[in-house]
Amino acid sequence: MSYEAVIGLEVHVQLLTNSKIFCGCSAAFGGAPNTHVCPVCLGMPGVLPVLNRRAVEYTVRMALAVDGQVAHISRFARKNYFYPDLPKGYQISQYDRAGEPLSTGGSVTVETDRGPRVIRLRRIHLEEEAGKSLHGEPGYDPYLSYIDYNRTGVPLMEIVTEPDIRTPQEASACLAHLRQMLQYIGVCDGNMEEGSLRCDANVSIRKTGEPYGELVEIKNMNSMRALERAVSYEIERQTETRERGETLIRETRLWDDGARRTFPMRGKEQASDYRYFPDPDLVAVEIENRWVEAIHAGLPELPAARAGRLEKTLGLSADQSRTITETRTRADYFETCVTHHPDARAVFNWMTSELPRVQSEARLDTDALTAHIPPAHLAELLDLVREGSISGKIGKDVLDQMGITGKTARQIVTEQGLTQISDTDALETLVVRTLADNPAEVEAYRAGKTKLLAFFVGQVMKATQGKANPAMVSEMLKKKLETM
Ligand code: ADP
Ligand code: MG
Ligand code: ZN
Repeated sequence: MSYEAVIGLEVHVQLLTNSKIFCGCSAAFGGAPNTHVCPVCLGMPGVLPVLNRRAVEYTVRMALAVDGQVAHISRFARKNYFYPDLPKGYQISQYDRAGEPLSTGGSVTVETDRGPRVIRLRRIHLEEEAGKSLHGEPGYDPYLSYIDYNRTGVPLMEIVTEPDIRTPQEASACLAHLRQMLQYIGVCDGNMEEGSLRCDANVSIRKTGEPYGELVEIKNMNSMRALERAVSYEIERQTETRERGETLIRETRLWDDGARRTFPMRGKEQASDYRYFPDPDLVAVEIENRWVEAIHAGLPELPAARAGRLEKTLGLSADQSRTITETRTRADYFETCVTHHPDARAVFNWMTSELPRVQSEARLDTDALTAHIPPAHLAELLDLVREGSISGKIGKDVLDQMGITGKTARQIVTEQGLTQISDTDALETLVVRTLADNPAEVEAYRAGKTKLLAFFVGQVMKATQGKANPAMVSEMLKKKLETM
C-alpha cells in the first residue's frame, strides 16, 4: 500500500523595483527601521494608492516567460485580516473571483530525477508585502515586540502552480527553476535568506487512482533544502496519520528547520474568511497588446533555450551547457570568452575548475573577479596555452596572478619570462643531463619499468620551473632511452 504525494507551490517574489507598489517609498532591502515609509504605506486615513507601472511590467515579463495568458483587464481586491504588520487592516491583492490576476495558465519544464516534468501554473498575480515583526531580536527589549514597516508595500508577485508536483525533489527543482527564470529576466534577486523569494508548499497524499486528498499548507521554509525536508517530513507525517486510521484535516503548518518537523499553526482559512472585495480606490488595470508585445520583445533568451543553443552550436554536453547557463552572468561571460577563443571546451573547463579556485584564493566576489579577469583576458591566456607558448600548468599559475593583480596573461608571461621552452637544442641539453644524473632509474627503465618516463619528465619540468614543453620533453626522453 503505497501513497503518492500531491504537491502545489505558492511562490512569493519580491520584485526589484526602485519604489513600492502603491507609493513612492524606496523598496530597497534593509535600511534603519521605519525610514522607508509614508502615509500611503502606513495606511493613514484618506490616502490613495497609485499603482507602480514597473511592478506590472515585471509581472507581465514573468507571465510571458512561462507562456501564461496575460489578462487584458486585471483588478485588485482587498484581503481583510488584522495583524500588527498590516497597518491598513487589509492587503491589496488579486484573487480569482474578486480581482482577476495578471496572468493565468502557462507552465515550466523542470529537470528532475525522473527526467523533464511539465508543471502547469495556475496563475501569477501581484500584491503588496506586509511589514516585519521583531520579537526578541538582538538589540531590542526582549519583553517588547517591534514592527518595521520598511517592507510594507514592497511589490510581491505570487506564482501559484497546479498540484502537478509528486516528490520533494521535484518541489525543490521546480522552485530552483522558477528562481533561475526570475533572475534571468531580472525581476528578482532570488535571495531566499533575505526573504525576497519565499515559498509555501501545499501537500496531500493519496493512493493511486484516488481523488486528491485534503491538503496541508506548509510555511516558513527559507532554503531549497528546507523545502525538500519539509515536504518529505509532511508526506511521512500524513502517511503515518492515515495508516493509524485517523482523518487528515486541512490546516496550515509551520516548518521548524532546527527541529526538522512541522507544527500546526492554524486551521486552513477559507477564502470567505478574508471578505475579499474589489478595492474601490484602484481602477481596473487595462493592459494593451502593444505593451505586452514590447515586453515580449525585450525578454532575454531563457536558460533552457540558451543551454540548447550552446549544446548545438559549440559541442558542449547537455550537462555542461546547463552548468554554464546556470546564471545569466556566467553564460554571458562564457559566450564573450568563446568569441575570442576557439576552444569552447577549454573555456568551459577553465571557467568551471580554475576560475572558482582563483576566486576563493584571491577572496573576490563574482563582480571583482570579472573585473580582474574579464572574458577577453581569460581568452588570451587560453590562446597562449593553446599555441604552446606556456604550458597548462604555468597557465594556472598565471591565472592565479591575474586574479590578484588584474594584469593580462601576456603581461605576466613577459614580465616573468615564463614562455615555454620549445627550443629543441635547449631541451636536448636538459634531457641528456637528466638521464646522466639518474643512472639507476635509467637502468630500471631499460629493464622494463617504462612507467619511469613520467619521473624523467618531472625532473626536466622541475629543472625548468615548469617551463619546458612537456610533450616535446616526453618525446625526446623516449627516443633517447630507447637508443641508449
Ligand atoms: P486557491 O488558494 O487559489 O483557492 P487552493 O488553495 O486550492 O487554491 O490551491 C492553492 C495551492 O494548493 C495551489 O498551489 C494548488 O496547486 C495546491 N493544491 C490544490 N489542491 C491540492 C491538493 N489536494 N494537494 C496538494 N496541493 C493542492
Ligand atoms: Mg491559497
Ligand atoms: Zn510609502
